[in-house]
Amino acid sequence: MHAKSLYIHIPFCRRKCLYCDFYSIVYDDNLAVSYVDIIVSQLGSIEKKFSTVYIGGGTPTSLNRRLLERLLKAARLKCDNETEFTVEANPESIDEEKLKTLLDCGVNRLSIGIQSLDERKLKKLGRIHDAAKAADSVILALRRGFKNISADLIFGLWSETLNSWQKELDEALSLPLKHLSCYSLTYEKNTPLFFALQNKSVEPLEDETVAAMYEYAIERLSLRGFKQYEISNFAKEGFECRHNLTYWDNLPYLGLGASAVSYEEGVRSENISSVHDFIKRYTEGRPLEEFSEKLSPLKRAKETAALKIRTKEGIDFGWFKSATGYDFPHLEKKAISALLAKGLIKYKKEGNVPTGIALRHKGFLFCDTVSSALL
Ligand code: SF4
Repeated sequence: MHAKSLYIHIPFCRRKCLYCDFYSIVYDDNLAVSYVDIIVSQLGSIEKKFSTVYIGGGTPTSLNRRLLERLLKAARLKCDNETEFTVEANPESIDEEKLKTLLDCGVNRLSIGIQSLDERKLKKLGRIHDAAKAADSVILALRRGFKNISADLIFGLWSETLNSWQKELDEALSLPLKHLSCYSLTYEKNTPLFFALQNKSVEPLEDETVAAMYEYAIERLSLRGFKQYEISNFAKEGFECRHNLTYWDNLPYLGLGASAVSYEEGVRSENISSVHDFIKRYTEGRPLEEFSEKLSPLKRAKETAALKIRTKEGIDFGWFKSATGYDFPHLEKKAISALLAKGLIKYKKEGNVPTGIALRHKGFLFCDTVSSALL
């Protein structure tokens, strides 16, 4: 196994949020016990340490404290002193006891899904926690001893204004955060918000307003020392999420749990989503994978390009050649011309010689267009 990164999916939440299309179900203690048993047993059969371990969801902290401890202790055995060990948490499921458990088990990075500090926005998103709890959870985590805290924020809800987003972001900046992920709201298929959009009970914000919100975030966060290192991710110096960098560099990773994706030796595979089926298959000794695809070298190279372009540093031609074996300017000749003409990318140069490409300001706003062109 070459993967240096391990992802563990915990598919339970207290309640489903209105915009969410991640696989998760409402927490059930019996199911969670069986599920964690499987993950612990799978971890036990892995004989290596990882440089990043990321437990996400769902809501990992929705597990009861005993189960959480059991899972963390098993995951910790896959870490060494240098491992970035992240756990996702939600404000409603963080308390003194759980924070202590996380710290005692070696977790050194906490990613809190606060999503908003605006009461009305949180309600519209269907979140359980309120604004005070969101802020308190970050402060409590710091007091308990977490030095590396990240938070997620969503912007661009219907009826949200640039002014209210500015206030909210400034409030977030008063919290002891080292990392922020800012996402614009997307209306994912088959979510309650998607149906609300279809039946016109909500009207999406205009693109210009959403773009202005994003631009404000980039500018404001940079002034406050948060370096943008990917389209949606900002970090204080040295606090970039190493686990996510694995994805954007298209490096191998191992995923455990329902719906988890693994990527090893050019093969991408995905586990069955349903928790019930996952447990049933494991118990019956059947494969957990629902889907598996061997990527051709060309497809791997193209995917590497589409992922890496999301980062602020962009694609270095030398790096690309050693990572994929392909000559980037030759491979993406047509796409490069088209994207340059649209003002979405720029050349990085040494003297007059192009050494790579990176997104321009406009490219950050239309990154999906850029990624698709490279695929
Ligand atoms: S807490 Fe996160 S994973 Fe769970 S439903 Fe809400 S957005 Fe989805």
